[in-house]
Amino acid sequence: MAVAQITREEFEKIYEAAIPSPEAMPKRLLRRALDGTIIALSYAEILLSQALRLHGPDAPVGYPDTAYYLPVIRCLSGEAVTRLGELVPILNRMRSQVRDELTFANARLWGESTLYAAEIIEAMHYLVKDEPKVEPWTGFLPDPAVRRYGIKLVDWTIPGQAVILGKARSSKEAARIVEEIMGNGLMIFASDEIIEQCLEENVKLGVDYIAFPIGNFTQVIHAVNYALRAGMAFGGIPPGLREQHRDYQHRRVRAFVLQLGEVDEVKVAAHFGAIFLGFPVILDTPVDEEIKDWYVSHPDYSDIVKFCMETRGIKLVSAKPNIPLNFGPSFEGETIRKPDCYFEMGNGKSPTFELVRMVDLDHVKDGQVEVIGPEVDGFPEGANVPIGTIVDIYGRKMQADFESVLERRIHYFTNYAEGLWHTAQRDMTWLRVSKEAIAKGFKFRHFGDLLIAKFKAEFPAIVDRVQVTILTDQAKVLEALKLAKQKYLERDQRMQGLTDDKVDEFYTCTLCQSFAPTHACIIAPERVGLCGAVTWLDAKASLEINPTGPNQPIVKGPALDDERGMWASVNDIVNAASRGNIPEVNLYTFLDKPMTSCGCFESIIAIFPEANGIMVTTREHKGMTPCGMTFSTLAGQVGGGLQTPGFMGVGRTYILSKRFIVADGGLARVAWMPKELKSYLIDRGFRERCEQAGLGADFIDKIADESAGTTPEEVVAFLSEKGHPCLSLPSII
Ligand code: SF4
Ligand code: ZN
Repeated sequence: MAVAQITREEFEKIYEAAIPSPEAMPKRLLRRALDGTIIALSYAEILLSQALRLHGPDAPVGYPDTAYYLPVIRCLSGEAVTRLGELVPILNRMRSQVRDELTFANARLWGESTLYAAEIIEAMHYLVKDEPKVEPWTGFLPDPAVRRYGIKLVDWTIPGQAVILGKARSSKEAARIVEEIMGNGLMIFASDEIIEQCLEENVKLGVDYIAFPIGNFTQVIHAVNYALRAGMAFGGIPPGLREQHRDYQHRRVRAFVLQLGEVDEVKVAAHFGAIFLGFPVILDTPVDEEIKDWYVSHPDYSDIVKFCMETRGIKLVSAKPNIPLNFGPSFEGETIRKPDCYFEMGNGKSPTFELVRMVDLDHVKDGQVEVIGPEVDGFPEGANVPIGTIVDIYGRKMQADFESVLERRIHYFTNYAEGLWHTAQRDMTWLRVSKEAIAKGFKFRHFGDLLIAKFKAEFPAIVDRVQVTILTDQAKVLEALKLAKQKYLERDQRMQGLTDDKVDEFYTCTLCQSFAPTHACIIAPERVGLCGAVTWLDAKASLEINPTGPNQPIVKGPALDDERGMWASVNDIVNAASRGNIPEVNLYTFLDKPMTSCGCFESIIAIFPEANGIMVTTREHKGMTPCGMTFSTLAGQVGGGLQTPGFMGVGRTYILSKRFIVADGGLARVAWMPKELKSYLIDRGFRERCEQAGLGADFIDKIADESAGTTPEEVVAFLSEKGHPCLSLPSII
């Protein structure tokens, strides 16, 4: 990923702006932090020398189930520690960076040294296997726990991270604080007696509740190494770029420390470790020396959670629109069966459409929902209701290109409501409203309310003002439909002009690194992400929405190899995103350095030597294929973020692209695909595309499917009978 280097000086400048002058520095507090650092370092040193005596310098060190070695060290200095002896110079270095002068800058370095010391102490505990304590204490959280939530943490779906240390004044109060934090959706790391207090009050803790009871004392480092791994995995920042990581933690991982109860020197030193990473510390005990914004006391429990969140700048956007139905992703998969359906819209029985339009400031009344035509009570049960939904959006950063990206979200947002069901898009939409929803008071205007709330909550960077018009008068729907069709056409034409050659930028998508850590999709206008869900426009919009998110721009520059589609810029990024595992990638061939495959590809293309071509199979097709493997067997070989020449996961619509494996012979190579994929592609213009490619509109009939056979012999016989062009192409191997 493109990571601009921030120098130490620049970083300090950003930081120093927020801190008090040297005269105002709290000397006693700093003195305690210094003393605590020295204690922590000495303790680490004692444990390390004991371990060296017992096990020798070659003894392996590390945490279970992580690709990040000792993550604090890996992240901040880049060192991949695997053996005990390697810790000696590291600990020495941390000791020598401790300077006595009582300044804020020094205090943060002490904090850093304390983090290293804690990581070494915990690593020693793992070495002698006295960690973690038994359930529910988690100790070190393995990488899968980071992948499960890390992306949500850095894209703020999980709005922040609370690290709670110590002991509250009573168990009841401990439970109330923790539950309030949970209620706000924050991730929690708890350490020390607060855990026992919560258990006493039956507060639900554990991975499923995103509330990790990590352990005691130095085990709090596992909260830190979790956050730092999230930065390496989802921020795309390579290990060792210390300032970059600090900056990322400060900006993206919105963590704070809530210290309950008394503190000793080592805890103060650890607090400065948090401050070193940009996390403020809030204490429930009076502190005679505060550092504004960084080290503050708030003894009042009644609003301590709010105070912590404000100090960290965590603002919650209410995601629940004001409608009489339950609402949330948990209802997304709900279906409404005919007997439960009050009425439906579309499905060929009444006209429907939906349209998102970019408008200027003068043409939007923010928050307005207008229903033109009868409301719900104007239609009897079982009616076929016409509906047109027009969403007008103004945003300073809105672009016409984002209309289609936002429009597709209508489907998801509508399905979030319990009792509403939505499928397809544009003028093909088909909706159902359940009897229960009507009984609860659902009205058409609630479509507008929910769309306004969701567009604002989910796209704050590009959506400033939203207005929704719902048409339910058949004549009005039909009239507006003409306009909508015109819009769709214009968009499609614009999209057709959008080719790999014509744009200056491609985009990465590293979303799937949560489970395929070396994988990066390269999203080009003519190549959709292999999950099929991220087009070039989606990636472009997503970058606007979240500039540090999974979609980063790649300024193309000149190609190294036009035919195979290799660019130095793409190589650099894939190399960095894959942590050096994939130095080069070709975009237009699957036989030589192809793009990697994560696990969520819609389909797989595989070399089919007997046919001198390729075969394609899809996740939906459960049957055998001519290469002797089903989709799931193939997927096991292809996935995981590796390059597997001859096999590649692709998005379905990539097959329609002019750039579809052009260097390997393109579409003409396609010898076999399941019927289901054929009809999917035909619906999306496959015949036209084949004609354009000079293969003839009937090319699809020359492609074998399961009815022609699934053994190479059967398929080749079919291909020869049909005169499939692949048989006369240059050899594929
Ligand atoms: Fe992103 Fe989809 Fe590729 Fe995953 S498969 S990295 S979500 S484009
Ligand atoms: Zn994926």
